Amino acid sequence: MYQSSNLRGDSPVSIIGAGISGAWHALLFALSGHAVTVHERSDGGMTESTSHFAGGMLAPWCEAESSEPVIGRLGVRSLDLWRQHFPHTPFNGSLVVAHARDRADFERFAKLTTNHRRLDARGLRELEPALEGFRDALFYPDEGHVEPRRVLPELHARIAQAGGRIEFDSDVNADDLDGIVIDCRGLAARDAESELRGVKGEMIVVESSEVELSRPVRLIHPRFPLYVIPRGDGRFMLGATSIESEDTGVSVRSALELLGAAYAVHPAFAEARIVEFGSGLRPAYPDNLPRISIEQQRITVNGLYRHGFLLAPALAELTLGYVSRGVIDNEVMRCA
Ligand SMILES: Cc1cc2nc3c(=O)[nH]c(=O)nc-3n(C[C@H](O)[C@H](O)[C@H](O)COP(=O)(O)OP(=O)(O)OC[C@H]3O[C@@H](n4cnc5c(N)ncnc54)[C@H](O)[C@@H]3O)c2cc1C
Repeated sequence: MYQSSNLRGDSPVSIIGAGISGAWHALLFALSGHAVTVHERSDGGMTESTSHFAGGMLAPWCEAESSEPVIGRLGVRSLDLWRQHFPHTPFNGSLVVAHARDRADFERFAKLTTNHRRLDARGLRELEPALEGFRDALFYPDEGHVEPRRVLPELHARIAQAGGRIEFDSDVNADDLDGIVIDCRGLAARDAESELRGVKGEMIVVESSEVELSRPVRLIHPRFPLYVIPRGDGRFMLGATSIESEDTGVSVRSALELLGAAYAVHPAFAEARIVEFGSGLRPAYPDNLPRISIEQQRITVNGLYRHGFLLAPALAELTLGYVSRGVIDNEVMRCA
């Protein structure tokens, strides 16, 4: 659907927040010729953002097990944009494995998702020799993953190359900015978006020279998706809990579950060195779906929940489509 956007295409664009959402918006707007300034309240380390703690999985087919079709639609489009703008992004696929006792949940996962194929023990060992403890797996060949702590600085550098400016240590208020303002503040936008809530995700980084994996491995678990993501240099991220709490600590129970999952994927993780415990608050609306809210010159992009890395490129493309051509996506846009 098209609607006159009431926005002047040549207006300067201010983006608040340089997390995954703000960064992709800044990149696409700068590449399309807009004068872009990004304001980020933290320094370039981005440790105050939820994006800093993410797994970075680009997994629209696996996520279909527990999310609405719109996540798949936007996710698949995002994969194209990751490929186009970051051609070195690894698209090695992802694996889903289960213990014998979780067989029924494994079959349910297979039924609820598409674009996968079953591997027997031999096929699995050919792909990931370290996973010799499992008798089969589901393989999603077209999924990818990024390392958030590498890709965010890369995105920031690309924004600058495209002519955009990023101001770190710049804590701003949308009302003080001129032109088009795109609010990508994540959970901090709750002052304007009262429905937002934080969903805690805990993660652990470990180091082991005895385990080698080339792609994310999900272990079927009755309460939340547990996974091990290789980060290179012998490091692995273990994630992620999903808890309706805005406390940012890591509980003993969660640590036991995450470490237990790693040990279950490969017993050599028992000797791994713990490098980091961390947690982030995923910004979510009550329906757990992303939203682009438009009110005159101000656009709010939020609610990326569990899917920020998966959805940010496609959401940024939709916002750009609205500003430049007035294109409305009825599933994710709300116009005041
Ligand atoms: C443990 C964990 C694992 C996850 N794994 C995945 C995954 O595998 N795949 C995936 O797709 N998603 C994953 N996610 C979800 C993903 O991390 C979030 O959806 C995403 O980070 C949200 O991005 P955002 O840019 O909206 O918010 P944020 O990353 O929080 O960025 C908002 C930024 O705005 C800045 N800011 C706030 N207020 C102001 C202000 N007034 N002025 C200037 N700057 C301001 C903040 O400092 C912050 O940097 C995971 C999340 C967690 C916690």
